[in-house]
Amino acid sequence: MHLRRRQFEIIQEHALSDIPFECCGLLAGTRERDHKGEYENKVYEIAPCKNVLYSGKEHGFEISFSEYLDVEREAMNLGLEIVGSYHSHIGTAAIPSNNDIDFARPGHSMIIISVQNMQPSAVTSWYRREEGGFHQEPIRIIE
Ligand SMILES: [Zn+2]
Repeated sequence: MHLRRRQFEIIQEHALSDIPFECCGLLAGTRERDHKGEYENKVYEIAPCKNVLYSGKEHGFEISFSEYLDVEREAMNLGLEIVGSYHSHIGTAAIPSNNDIDFARPGHSMIIISVQNMQPSAVTSWYRREEGGFHQEPIRIIE
């Protein structure tokens, strides 16, 4: 996946400002085929969202359906689509939980920011294939 440097910084700032809770947000961009014919998500905008999980926000997140639709509409106005989401893990590794795997939609990327000792310690991205399966993908930072 491709991510602009400024957006890469904003999601890490968001992760720090929402401590002790997990932050969350949506990624808007385009889906393009790479040289191998595989889809790759290019993120151009990010939309920080409210974590509306009723309890346990320290170890989980939920984005409301209405906020998802609002962001989707804004993205469409920019000629973009939602290509994934991001959220933080407080004190645990940047590896998807079972809930995360359920949340990820086919064709979408999921960025996880691990926060350890009040600092972002790792940022990973995971891609949910249309055919099923979920694997880590490289994050290419573009200027
Ligand atoms: Zn998670």
